[in-house]
Amino acid sequence: MQSFTARVSEHQLIAGSFQYLHLELVNPDKIEFQAGQYLILTVEAAKGIRRNYSIASRPEMSHAVELLVDVKPQGSGSQYLKNLKPGEQVKFVAPFGNFVVQDACVNHQLLFVATGSGISPIRSMILDLLITKKHQGPIRLWWGMRRQEDCFWVEDFDNLEKEYQNFKWDLILSRPPKNWPLHFGHVTQHLIEYTKQSTINPAKPRTVWYRAKRDPRQSRDNQQSTMCFYLCGNKFMIEELSTKLAEVGINKEHIHTEKFF
Ligand SMILES: Cc1cc2nc3c(=O)[nH]c(=O)nc-3n(C[C@H](O)[C@H](O)[C@H](O)COP(=O)(O)OP(=O)(O)OC[C@H]3O[C@@H](n4cnc5c(N)ncnc54)[C@H](O)[C@@H]3O)c2cc1C
Repeated sequence: MQSFTARVSEHQLIAGSFQYLHLELVNPDKIEFQAGQYLILTVEAAKGIRRNYSIASRPEMSHAVELLVDVKPQGSGSQYLKNLKPGEQVKFVAPFGNFVVQDACVNHQLLFVATGSGISPIRSMILDLLITKKHQGPIRLWWGMRRQEDCFWVEDFDNLEKEYQNFKWDLILSRPPKNWPLHFGHVTQHLIEYTKQSTINPAKPRTVWYRAKRDPRQSRDNQQSTMCFYLCGNKFMIEELSTKLAEVGINKEHIHTEKFF
C-alpha cells in the first residue's frame, strides 16, 4: 500500500449521475495493482473524510487510474468528485481489496454481474483478462442499470464482444422505456435462468469430493466446467443473487463479491 498524489486530467459527466475521472499520477508516477482492487481517496482532508473507489482501468496503464463514480448519493465523496476540475490534485492510498480474479478460477467460465457503478472494477477485470492476459476461456457480463439515459460504455462493451469471441455481455434495464428491445427486469432473474439452462454443469461439491477420493484426474475435469461468479454493486443484489446461486448448487467458494453500499 502506498500514498499517491494525482492530477485530474479528464473529468466528464458520462450519463445520468455517472462521472468518469482520469487521474494522472504525479508522485509516485506509477502504480501496481490487481484488476478489481480499489483506492481510498481523501475527500475532505480537514475532517479526515475518505471514500473507497474501485479502479476502472486495467493495471497495464500504470501511469494513471480511471474512476467511474455515481454521484447520486450526494454525500462528501459525491460532492468532492462532482466539483473536481481538470488540473486539480487529489490524494489517495492504494491498492486495497481482494475482489480479483482468483488463480483457481482461470480455467472456469467467468461470470461477472454488476449493478450501476459496480461496473467499475469489473471493467478493469474484463479488460485485463481480454487485452492484457489474452484469456481464452468464456467470459460473460450482465450489467443492470435503471434507465436507458443512465447507460454508458455500451459501445465499448459491444466492440469488445465483436473483437473477442469468448466475451458476451447483456445490459438489463430495471426501468426500460416503452418498446425496449433488449433485456429488462432484474439481473438476478436473468442470471439464475442462464445458470439453470447453461449446458455447462455447475460443480456439485459432494460429487467433486467423492470423485477426488477415487480419481483425482476426473475431479479436475469436473472443476474445469465450473462457473466462477464476480458480483459487484448494491448489497441487495449481491445478497439475493448469492442466496439464489447457492440454491441452484453453486459452491460458495465460486462466488466473489464486492459491496459498494
Ligand atoms: C470497496 C468499495 C469500492 C467502491 N467503489 C466505488 C466506485 O468505483 N464507484 C462509486 O460510485 N462508488 C464506489 N463505492 C461507494 C463509495 O465508496 C461511496 O460510498 C459513494 O461514493 C457514496 O459516497 P458519498 O460520500 O457521496 O455518500 P455517503 O455519505 O457515504 O452515503 C450516503 C448514502 O448513500 C448510500 N450510497 C452509497 N453509494 C451509493 C450508490 N452508488 N447508490 C445509491 N446509494 C448509495 C450510502 O449507503 C448512504 O446511505 C465503493 C465502495 C466500496 C466499499
